[in-house]
Amino acid sequence: MNLSFNEDLLDNYHSGTQIARVLTENWVSENMYCPRCGNLHIQHFQNNRPVADFFCPFCENEYELKSKDGALGRKINDGAYSTMIERITSNNNPDFFFMSYSKAQRVVKDFVFIPKHFFVPEIIEKRKPLSATARRAGWVGCNILIDRIPEQGRISIISNGVIADTNVVVNQVNKSNTLEIPDISRRGWLFDILHCVNKIKTDVFTLNEVYKFEKELHIKHPQNNNIKPKIRQQLQFLRDKGFIEFLGNGKYFKVM
Ligand SMILES: [Zn+2]
Repeated sequence: MNLSFNEDLLDNYHSGTQIARVLTENWVSENMYCPRCGNLHIQHFQNNRPVADFFCPFCENEYELKSKDGALGRKINDGAYSTMIERITSNNNPDFFFMSYSKAQRVVKDFVFIPKHFFVPEIIEKRKPLSATARRAGWVGCNILIDRIPEQGRISIISNGVIADTNVVVNQVNKSNTLEIPDISRRGWLFDILHCVNKIKTDVFTLNEVYKFEKELHIKHPQNNNIKPKIRQQLQFLRDKGFIEFLGNGKYFKVM
């Protein structure tokens, strides 16, 4: 994998946005493998498809690329808010690649894979409508809040210029697949509890430590008056999926 962009392609392009698109898309076509099946190449869709940008010719999985100059940060800009929410709730989303690059050095800095089932409406932020004077006045875009995605769903392929081992990446993807639930409303709860577990720094933790997030969870889910049973239910789900182990006496162990 070569982290530098291929600048031979730029002769016919002048606008900054076009150049960025050509360089980043070409980089993915020439360097990225399929993190789902490990196939050595993924391909760019020929036509302008409304949803995905790339596909794996082996497992046929689809990917969308979002890239930005500079640090990846907490959020990444995306298209129309309503389209995004519709895609998430209809389970019609591809997997995502988030790339950060240095425009000055023309190299990739970070490359993160987000499996599609980690998308819930809670990670999509509505932006202010465009002003009345804008060409597309009233149009509402969105941001994807990267830091709201549980760490199990942010699989790092390149981190600050360092390339992760392919087998480690594919393994992590397989593990994250066990958290796939078709029902979006249940997905939200699972990720909320996963966030709480992730916030506890030790590998062994107690049920009481998770209960400490009750207030926080109640603010997020004001209609629900049974937070504690909900916590226990989701911990059980995480245990059934092999993410945590139940040690007895209200103690748990983080397997992954
Ligand atoms: Zn594949």
